[in-house]
Amino acid sequence: MSEAKTLPSGPQPDVKYPIQVIYCGNCSLPIEYCEYHPEYEKCKQWLERNLPNEFEKFVKLSADVSEEDATEEKKRQKRGGKGIVKARKKEDGPKQVCLSRAPRGKKKSVTVVTGLSTFNIDLKVASKFFGTRFACGSSVTGDDEIVIQGDVKDDLFDIIPEKWPEIDEDSIEDLGDLKR
Ligand SMILES: [Zn+2]
Repeated sequence: MSEAKTLPSGPQPDVKYPIQVIYCGNCSLPIEYCEYHPEYEKCKQWLERNLPNEFEKFVKLSADVSEEDATEEKKRQKRGGKGIVKARKKEDGPKQVCLSRAPRGKKKSVTVVTGLSTFNIDLKVASKFFGTRFACGSSVTGDDEIVIQGDVKDDLFDIIPEKWPEIDEDSIEDLGDLKR
């Protein structure tokens, strides 16, 4: 906090005198103190409605201080094009594992797993794991594709997040049946 520095004494060039204290209609404190009030969010709403100019100052202030507090305001301000803080880091490509079933012969089918490498998973290791786990053939068949002999798609929804906790069940997409 910069408040810890010695406070300037005497009239300040950038302050108008007499100093006008604005009291908040929500918590009845001077608005500078609203942030310490448990109903700060309500205070801000009151401010926005009644003293939009002061509200703007507040928003800018809190945007400097804390990005988190500003997030709400950003959302509100976005339309006006006044966003102060730039959008956070972008996602570096979608991370998703896709599962699908493909026919093999007349009655059998294979399970195709793609996208594991988006989670930086070694495909060879994964393929071997699937083979052992399902006691069936499994092989790396492409840049980011593993084919497991047998229909194990449903099991994979449980097994993949279990084996690789960084893969959320929600990031596994069921592509259904592939036609070949
Ligand atoms: Zn208040």
